[in-house]
Amino acid sequence: MHVGPVTIEDEVLLAGVRNNVGFSSPEFVEAMGKMLRGLRKVFGVDDSYQTFAIVGGGTSAMESVVSLLRKGEKVLVVSNGVFGDRWEPLLKRYPLQVNVLRADPGDYVPPEAVEDEVSKGGYTAVTMTHVETSTGVRHPVEETVKRIRDRVDLIVVDGVSAAGAETVKAKDWGVDVYLTASQKALGAPPGLGLLALSERALERLKGESVSGYLLDLRNWLPVMRNFEEGKLGYFSTLPVHTVLMLAKSLELIEKEGLENRIARHEKVARAIRAGVEGMGLKIVARRPEAYSNTVTGVIVNGVDPAKVLSAVINEGIELAPGVHPKLQGRYFRIGHMGWVTPNDAIATIAVLERVLKSLGEDVRVGEGVKAAQLALYS
Ligand code: PMP
Repeated sequence: MHVGPVTIEDEVLLAGVRNNVGFSSPEFVEAMGKMLRGLRKVFGVDDSYQTFAIVGGGTSAMESVVSLLRKGEKVLVVSNGVFGDRWEPLLKRYPLQVNVLRADPGDYVPPEAVEDEVSKGGYTAVTMTHVETSTGVRHPVEETVKRIRDRVDLIVVDGVSAAGAETVKAKDWGVDVYLTASQKALGAPPGLGLLALSERALERLKGESVSGYLLDLRNWLPVMRNFEEGKLGYFSTLPVHTVLMLAKSLELIEKEGLENRIARHEKVARAIRAGVEGMGLKIVARRPEAYSNTVTGVIVNGVDPAKVLSAVINEGIELAPGVHPKLQGRYFRIGHMGWVTPNDAIATIAVLERVLKSLGEDVRVGEGVKAAQLALYS
C-alpha cells in the first residue's frame, strides 16, 4: 500500500523473469509496439498523439518536456504540492522564465486563478499535476485546461499518480503532453518515463529547443515510430525487463477493462477514506471533489507518523511517509494503486486501527473496518 513503486501482480512479475532481450529482438520490438499502443488507451488519446517510453521515470519524462521549449519562453507552474513544485527548479536549470502558482497543502490552485494568471499574457506553456502524490489531491484538469487552452501553446499534465487509475481523456480535454512513469498505477517496475504528445506538441519538436541530449525527444521520436511499425529502434538502452513487464501490465489492463480498473481504484479509495474517517482521523485532501483514486494522506494527532510506518510493516503492510514540508511530522500516506483490491483496503484499515490504538492515538477500533465494509457495499 505504498505510493510507488507499487506491488506487482504475479503475471507481470513473471514476464520479467528471464534473460536480457536485445533491442533488435522480435520479442522486444513487439513488446515496445504493444506498450506504445496500450499507453494511448490509458492516456485517452488516438493516433494523432505519439506515445514515448524513455529512460528514467517520472522526473525524466518531466524534464524531457524542455525539448518542446525555446530560449526565453515563459512557463506557468500550477503546483498543489511537492511534485508540482518540482517543475520550478527543473525548468530553472534552462534559460526559461518560470512563474509558480501554489495551493495550500491539501488544496488545489483554483482553475479561475490559473485563468486569471494566463490571461495576463506571455505564457507559452502551463504545467499541472493530475494527482499530487504528496497530499493525494486530484486537480480539476479538464476544467482548468478548458479555461486556458487557446491562450497557450502547450498544456503539460503530470499524471504519474493518475494514469491507469483515474479517468484520463488527454485528447478531449486538450492536453498536449500527458506523462507518467512505469512504477505507479500501471503496476510495473520503475525504469520508464512515459509520455503522449499531441500534434501541436510534436510540431514544436521541429524547431530549436533548450534541451540537453539524453532527454531530447527529437532523439526518441524516430525510435518510437520505428517500434510502432514493427522495426527495431535504438537511441539509449531501455530497461528491457521493465518494457516486457509493462507490456504485460497493459495487456492485463486491457483484459480487466480500463473503466473497470478505474472503478476498482475508486471503490478501494472510497473504502480507505471511509475507514480512516470511521476510526476518527482526518484526511489531508480538503475538498471531497479533490479526493484521488490513488493516494490518501492521513493526519495523526498524538503519534509520530514514522512510528506508525515501522509498526505497520511488522504487520505486513507498507505505507508511505508524509513528504509535504508544511505538514511535516503530522501525516502519512496510504497508496492504493495498481493491483489493489477491496481486501487490501480492509486489511490496511484493520492493521491501522490496531497499530494506532497501541501507539496511543485516539481511534475507535472496529469503527474504521465497519465503515470501510459499508463503503464497499454501496
Ligand atoms: N510526479 C509525481 C506526481 C510523482 O508522484 C513522482 C514520484 N513519486 C514524480 C513525478 C517523479 O517520478 P520519479 O520518482 O519516477 O522520477
